[in-house]
Amino acid sequence: MLSSESDKLMNPGLYHTLVELDKASHNKGVKVVNQGCTATLELCKRRGGATYAKPSSGGEEYKICCPFCSDGKHRLYVSYLYGTESTNPGYVGTLKNLAYCQNEQEVKRELWDIISTTNYASLSKLGLVRVRESGPAEKKELMPMGEVVPLHELNTFHPAVTYLKSRGFNPNYLGKSYGVGAVISHQHEELRMRKLLTGRIVFPYYVNRKLVAWQSRYAGEVPKGSSILRWYYPSGSGKHLWGFDNASHFQGCILCEGILSAVNFGPAAMAIGGKVLLPHMLDAIVGKWSNVLVALDPDAGINRNVDLEKHDRQQKMVEQLKGAGVPYVQGVAWTPGDLRDPGDIGVKACREIVKRDHPMLYHLLPYYRK
Ligand SMILES: [Zn+2]
Repeated sequence: MLSSESDKLMNPGLYHTLVELDKASHNKGVKVVNQGCTATLELCKRRGGATYAKPSSGGEEYKICCPFCSDGKHRLYVSYLYGTESTNPGYVGTLKNLAYCQNEQEVKRELWDIISTTNYASLSKLGLVRVRESGPAEKKELMPMGEVVPLHELNTFHPAVTYLKSRGFNPNYLGKSYGVGAVISHQHEELRMRKLLTGRIVFPYYVNRKLVAWQSRYAGEVPKGSSILRWYYPSGSGKHLWGFDNASHFQGCILCEGILSAVNFGPAAMAIGGKVLLPHMLDAIVGKWSNVLVALDPDAGINRNVDLEKHDRQQKMVEQLKGAGVPYVQGVAWTPGDLRDPGDIGVKACREIVKRDHPMLYHLLPYYRK
């Protein structure tokens, strides 16, 4: 974007700061979304009573490749209002929560530290912003899973069964031990992809035998170019640990990114559904397990090379758990030869990893001694 064009932006100062930030990291340019559109802000109240502003319609945004992760696809969105001061009677303060990275949850503080030296205009100078007040966030009810038949009760030719078998998993075991099944009908009216839910494999999350969340996976490889979601999870499911009830029976646990990786590490393994341990998950782990092996996926990115930043993230998680008081924590020592996710390497290889990288945990898990 030429400088005369960028001056037409709603927040050229912020834009130029992001251009500099991008040059110093990925250097893939800054994209502008919804140019000229003003945002509508909604005021929300946290449980403690503190107020924060949330955009209910985005307005002009700047997209850059996130400097805090291995992003190469412009996944960090920054609203033109980021960093502006609000003197609106409902909310007095600086708008810092109007940026997010699609890969992670927590980037705002780091971003703020880097670009807080920019001089921002006051909110009134940036134009029309309607502020609407809303009460405390309502606790949404979990969307029903639909009518589910467990895998071990399905015909062996059902796509959910054949697909999992083709990837080396045992559908009977998944059905009996984890309640994994196939959705045979789903009536939720809010769900636009309702048709796509039927036939999918559903993975329930149980905490103290209560269903707290679920995820579903397309039963097969998603055809190229199709809009079918490979994984789908309803809102609120992201903060829970998959496999919690099964792992509760052991003194140690293994933390994986994906559900199928956790399955290969056995019943002491749980899936966190990403690369970040959320506060809710940390609370659930601390005090419950004394031995933890962190086993994030070994690779990331287009070339499927081992990603050093990701290793940092695994190490960060190890430090995070130690800092929170878990006595024994290790991370898997992946090597450049490890290119596949634990979900793709089978039970035996995962067992060898535990034996090699956390022998103490290995001896604590009876299913490895059989
Ligand atoms: Zn990021």
